[in-house]
Amino acid sequence: MKIAISGAGVAGPALAHWLLRTGHEPTLIEEAPEFRAGGYVIDFWGIGYDVIEKMGILPEVLARGYQVQEVRLVKESGAKAAGFSADVFRRMTHDRFTSLPRGDLAEIIYDSVKDKAETLFGNSVTKVQDTGDAVSVTLLSGETRNFDLLIGADGLHSNVRRLVWGEQEAFERPVGFHVAAFVCSDYPHRDEDAYVSFAVPDLSISRFALRDNRTLALFIFGNDRMTGPMPHDPAAKKALLHQIFAGAGWETHDLLDAMDETNEIYLDRVSQSVVPSWSKGRTVLIGDAAACPSLLAGEGTGLAIAEAYVLAGELKQAGSDVPAALRAYETRLRPFLEGKQKAALAMASTFAPKTKFGIWLRNMATHLMVIPPIADMFVGDSVKDDVDLPDYGM
Ligand SMILES: Cc1cc2nc3c(=O)[nH]c(=O)nc-3n(C[C@H](O)[C@H](O)[C@H](O)COP(=O)(O)OP(=O)(O)OC[C@H]3O[C@@H](n4cnc5c(N)ncnc54)[C@H](O)[C@@H]3O)c2cc1C
Repeated sequence: MKIAISGAGVAGPALAHWLLRTGHEPTLIEEAPEFRAGGYVIDFWGIGYDVIEKMGILPEVLARGYQVQEVRLVKESGAKAAGFSADVFRRMTHDRFTSLPRGDLAEIIYDSVKDKAETLFGNSVTKVQDTGDAVSVTLLSGETRNFDLLIGADGLHSNVRRLVWGEQEAFERPVGFHVAAFVCSDYPHRDEDAYVSFAVPDLSISRFALRDNRTLALFIFGNDRMTGPMPHDPAAKKALLHQIFAGAGWETHDLLDAMDETNEIYLDRVSQSVVPSWSKGRTVLIGDAAACPSLLAGEGTGLAIAEAYVLAGELKQAGSDVPAALRAYETRLRPFLEGKQKAALAMASTFAPKTKFGIWLRNMATHLMVIPPIADMFVGDSVKDDVDLPDYGM
């Protein structure tokens, strides 16, 4: 089949990988002028890890990954206030766990398809017409092409979902925060293999040291701080972050200075996607467009990769019965993804506590993470992937 995939983030290229293996012809349509490699460091385990292994790219992922040793919560002075060892996650995942920048993982996946699948950069779908057994797609470039299937892999604010299902607001469940992430070079403070994080009520500032003297910074703030529309150009994003975080303490001032040196800043609302049906006729959603669990799940990237695998596998299994494949894809994954979204919401209060007491309580709770049954109780539901991935023989 000829399959159009809107979005060359994580889910889109992962799906293209499997579609190529099963004899289909995917075309990636990406609005950015070139591949987007931004984002914060992500933890990677579970079914996403299993699928990456099946894709044959696990060695590259592990080579680019970091063996995080600890999550360190610091006081204004930088002294450790609380935290826990990352061994908790290694134990729960039987050591099948790594951490790497989202952009590195996305790039490894995209590299596995870029010479075999057509990618239309700087382009976007503007109109979709379903004719029953095919779909006609009009592009921003003016061209109209016919495909057997259209995939919306274009993230939380999915364009395909807007065109086929309706406006974003109907499918977005905000969880109360915004997130900003950027990479800077030669940042003066470094702690290898540690997530170092500082919080004041409603704000959280974290950094993670990367190779080549780079540092990833993550800022989280409560939705109430965002009074105007979401800024899109770098200067407006910087102005907003300066305004919200000025005087927050710890290294915030240095990190804001470091941010001024870059124009690649990821800024978005932290939200989940809730879509009543992941497919409509010949259009189907995957990744964040279908069931974004949000940053709170810590696993959105791995889940998006697993969704791509299952969709391609069900298409292979169902042969020419495309509607049966789309139904099987959703039936297999929806209850699991809804469980992940629920578990993620339960973590919300730990990300940027609203009060000093909330910060204190969170810090105290981390001390208990050394006790395995208590660690399982706190994060077990988020870490465990209770779903079977079939072997589709792809
Ligand atoms: C640059 C970037 C940085 C990110 N940083 C973080 C982070 O720090 N923390 C975090 O939790 N999550 C982050 N995310 C989201 C994270 O990648 C996803 O939650 C997860 O990996 C699921 O992937 P996805 O492929 O469904 O969506 P995404 O990775 O978001 O990919 C969607 C792709 O669709 C493209 N796209 C959007 N609109 C259109 C359109 N109209 N036409 C064509 N293409 C379109 C986007 O440019 C993007 O390449 C980031 C996403 C991006 C794109």
